Amino acid sequence: MDQTNDSAPSRRQMMGGVTAGAAMAVASNALAQGTTQGAQPTSPLPLAVPRDPRDEYPRPPFARQTQAAPGLAGQMNPRPDHGETSYRGTGRLAGRKALITGGDSGIGRAAAIAYAREGADVAIGYLPQEQSDADEVLEIIRQAGRKAVALPGDIRDEAFCNQMVETAVREMGGLDILVNNAGKQQAQKSITDITTEQFDATFKTNVYAPFWITRAAVPHLKPGAAIIITASEQAYDPSAILFDYAQTKACGVSFAKSLSKQLAEKGIRVNAVAPGPYWTALQPSGGALPEALEQFGAKTSLGRPGQPVEIAPVYVLLASQESSFTTGQVFGASGGGGFP
Ligand code: NAD
Ligand code: MG
Repeated sequence: MDQTNDSAPSRRQMMGGVTAGAAMAVASNALAQGTTQGAQPTSPLPLAVPRDPRDEYPRPPFARQTQAAPGLAGQMNPRPDHGETSYRGTGRLAGRKALITGGDSGIGRAAAIAYAREGADVAIGYLPQEQSDADEVLEIIRQAGRKAVALPGDIRDEAFCNQMVETAVREMGGLDILVNNAGKQQAQKSITDITTEQFDATFKTNVYAPFWITRAAVPHLKPGAAIIITASEQAYDPSAILFDYAQTKACGVSFAKSLSKQLAEKGIRVNAVAPGPYWTALQPSGGALPEALEQFGAKTSLGRPGQPVEIAPVYVLLASQESSFTTGQVFGASGGGGFP
């Protein structure tokens, strides 16, 4: 089955659903989000007007830029769009409690903003050196009238993973949604350039940590809970320069497919998201080669990278009760490629 062709219409339908939902709910939503009005767009119905997806966000070439890993969204040029001024909730996650790793920036930040505006309390994990990015997200969650929990620390450490889950559960009074999203990606031209330290750190971050975090979280999850892991199109169409990273993302697909079978009897759904190229701090901080970053996203069908806000609705859908028959699936949002 060509999942690329399959995923495109389903995403359009979903975005259409968001649009219709936004149109119907805008009046009550504006009231419900009274505390977030300062962060709302001036346009009354931003999703109601069809726009050409090729022109909606920045296209390459991008300015050459590098940062030390893990990188900051606040230092990117242009700054990514995580939905700060555009994402509108419609109550799809009202009262839920979500833990999102890597929620300070990029795809995780977009999911955190969307979840909060959909009515969820949100705990975000991140590295201590990302505090400035995290502070922006925590403030947006609070502005949405939801509880924000900061969980700085290194998920390559098993003890921290356990503690992070326990703190999230204690601070929020439970857990309904777990998003294993944090990730490490360092491009190398040759396998001979990949040190054992890099290989180990990539697997610790992308494979071990989701195992440790999920193992700690499962005893707290009740029927109706959802687990999401951020995989990648790299699981199916690995780049030559991402030898170690691509293998970890194949693990992410297997994680969702195996665990969904195991946890079905507890009423817990498990799914994966497989993004294509997104404009996030991961890329200028070693995920992409600097010269390639200037043309980042040019090879997609739409000719540009995705912005994190464009994938947030996938995370909302997979977390919400609306997708109650969806488990063990991999959702792509890659601008046109990636799947087998
Ligand atoms: P990002 O850099 O904004 O987010 C990744 C986050 O991972 C960081 O913010 C950091 O907080 C967290 N992280 C990394 N190492 C950590 C550690 N040791 N301890 C704690 N937290 C740590 O970049 P992003 O692109 O939004 O990445 C989010 C996910 O999306 C990753 O799993 C990535 O592999 C995946 N992904 C990204 C792309 C893309 O093109 N940007 C494509 C496919 C998949
Ligand atoms: Mg970050």
